[in-house]
Amino acid sequence: TQDAFSPLRKASIKIGFIFLAIIALTIVLSVFFSKRLTRPLRHMIRLVREIISGNLDQRVKVLSQDEIGELAAAFNDLTGNLKESKEKIEKVQAQLVHAGKIAAFGQLSAGVAHELNQPLTSVVLWESVAKKALAEKEIGVIRKKVSESLVVIENNVQRMTVIIRQLRDFARQSKSQYGEVDLNKIIENVLLMFGQQLQGHNIHLRRELKESLPHLYGDMHQLDQVIVNLVANARDALDEKKGGGLTVRTDIDGTNHIILEISDTGIGMSNDVQKHLFEPFFTTKKPEKGTGLGLWILYGIVSEHGGNIEFKSEKEVGTTFTLKFPPYSEIETVKLKKQME
Ligand code: ADP
Repeated sequence: TQDAFSPLRKASIKIGFIFLAIIALTIVLSVFFSKRLTRPLRHMIRLVREIISGNLDQRVKVLSQDEIGELAAAFNDLTGNLKESKEKIEKVQAQLVHAGKIAAFGQLSAGVAHELNQPLTSVVLWESVAKKALAEKEIGVIRKKVSESLVVIENNVQRMTVIIRQLRDFARQSKSQYGEVDLNKIIENVLLMFGQQLQGHNIHLRRELKESLPHLYGDMHQLDQVIVNLVANARDALDEKKGGGLTVRTDIDGTNHIILEISDTGIGMSNDVQKHLFEPFFTTKKPEKGTGLGLWILYGIVSEHGGNIEFKSEKEVGTTFTLKFPPYSEIETVKLKKQME
């Protein structure tokens, strides 16, 4: 009986081996193919994460001609398009910032012309005083009157030089240049351009600048623009009420952060206006008076400086903008924030 079963047994052992071999081959093949499939997919997932975090320079290696290869190529095209679009958006943003600056410059120039009028009149007046003095008989009197006139003329010329330099610096579209800056000094220079203009608009200006304010790490020209925008908005809000008070205050808080506060008793803002305040092109002013770019630009500059903005406003009562910047000693924090953007 044993012999009668033996060919059957042999055959079943053979079949068993073949079966096992097929299973083993299937496992090997499926591991191989799943690795081929999952490795590039995992790679792509990693890249998508990088793209989300802002790195658009990464590309997937296209190694095969199959669907995975096609997917990788399509993925690379998509990343390339994204990068191009991002660059275009950044370019348009830079142009908008410049457009906003030109608009502010136009408004400022009108004020500056006004601002130069007073020292210029004074120079003309004292020049004639000096000329008349030359007709005096006594040399001592001539000397005294002429030197008096020259001092006044020199002071006025200096004032005009500062105003013009300030306007020129404001207009210059410079690449951002970070360094140690004294916010109080920037404020003084900006107010120099606005001074007479505010008086002419029946606006009472109050300076409450903290002595020995810590310096901050920033770009002088951009911070200039921040203050110009805030003061110009306050002036416009006050104009609507035919005048009022404008306070510019600097201080430090408990953590040595620098505070800049610009407060006005102007028309204030409705809740609806407050909601859209930092959107580009949002304006409630007439086209010749507003572009709607001021606060949008300001928001960008302040965040780039590692700072933040808060505001409080009540209709018909007034508005206060409070900006906070880290001090120069925290320069590394600002740099880090800039890198992360
Ligand atoms: P623009 O001044 O060109 O209109 P901004 O972005 O600077 O653009 O301001 C947007 C809007 O915010 C202004 O049109 C105005 O309605 C409102 N706004 C800004 N600052 C003040 C302020 N101090 N008081 C009242 N409204 C303000």
